[in-house]
Amino acid sequence: MARNRYEVALLPGDGIGLEVTDAAVAVLTDAAEQHGVTLSYATYDAGAAYYRVSGEAISAASMSALGEADAVLLGAMGLPDVRYPDGTEIAPQIDVREHYGLFASLRPCRLFPGVPTRVRAEAVDMLIIRELTEGLFAGRHDPAEPSDERASDRLTITRATSEKLFEVAFAQAKRRRRLHGTPGHVTLLDKANVLRSNAFLRKLFDEAAARHPDVATARLYIDAGAMMLVTNPERFDVVVTENIFGDITSEIAAGVVGGLGVAPSGDVSETHGVFQPSHGTAPDIAGRGVANPVAAILSAAMLLDWIAERHGDPRCAGAAASIRTATGAVLARGPRTRDLGGDAGTLEVTRAIRTALAAGA
Ligand code: ATP
Repeated sequence: MARNRYEVALLPGDGIGLEVTDAAVAVLTDAAEQHGVTLSYATYDAGAAYYRVSGEAISAASMSALGEADAVLLGAMGLPDVRYPDGTEIAPQIDVREHYGLFASLRPCRLFPGVPTRVRAEAVDMLIIRELTEGLFAGRHDPAEPSDERASDRLTITRATSEKLFEVAFAQAKRRRRLHGTPGHVTLLDKANVLRSNAFLRKLFDEAAARHPDVATARLYIDAGAMMLVTNPERFDVVVTENIFGDITSEIAAGVVGGLGVAPSGDVSETHGVFQPSHGTAPDIAGRGVANPVAAILSAAMLLDWIAERHGDPRCAGAAASIRTATGAVLARGPRTRDLGGDAGTLEVTRAIRTALAAGA
């Protein structure tokens, strides 16, 4: 049911996460107002800077409060010089993922006119869907073999998670076809010729494909698929794959469409969604006002799409579309940040997107 007000939890985090979250919230608020939607925000401390002062990466109270919000907008988290005692990075975003069972990471990769790319491609508009909770990552907490001679990890694929993942993929293909006129096509990337776990994944994909006969499908081995993402990216619509292949594939696809500064993402379950730029905290440029806010702003548009779908609220879908149109207009004519060959700062680009939004393009 559509509501008068939706609650958005903010986790700005560290480094440029703070700068791009401010930018995204400004654009999100404008777009929502323009379409008659009221958003309320609650900001939570989490990340490396918070760990330094509090000794925890995210508090239990904040973790449970996130679940009460309609959606979460996250900046970026982690700093190179702040670590847990075991030497690993402070990454409460992974705790959030695990806590809320966010099993699918959605990474739209669309080439906007005006964005420099190294590949010869024109109409790239694909959605990479990465499984987030299984694969090699599921076994990473197992005790290591007590040997200095070998180490191994276990790759796990389950029917339950894969079925949910493929349902998301087919639903997204249909949704994109309905809203954006994309072909409605799902490609599975796997290594079914070598890995038993991946042969199982392919079998489950075939079963899912049979449940959705109106969506065309393809199956590619990950090695061939990785090359094709670079040589023929316009051939893909929805791409679905397991955890580690998705980790790599989504960065390849982000590179194809202009880099991390323009790559949004959303980690979702059936009930919760966390939206964040694909980039990290970029300590090399943090605090200088030069970060590209586009990835965070497009993540905010995804957040609105998520609320629109869950609540059947077309106003939110309209606000998301307006953000994408305004962002596309600014990417095409400038100003652009330095990662895209321009010389503008975060505020200037954000201001231009807000102006384009107000003007209706
Ligand atoms: P993480 O491990 O958290 O992903 P990382 O150091 O591998 O972090 P990023 O923090 O994303 O990766 O930074 C990688 C490079 O991309 C850096 O040189 C950074 O300055 C650049 N970069 C990342 N995001 C942006 C952005 N929004 N605007 C401009 N440059 C960016």
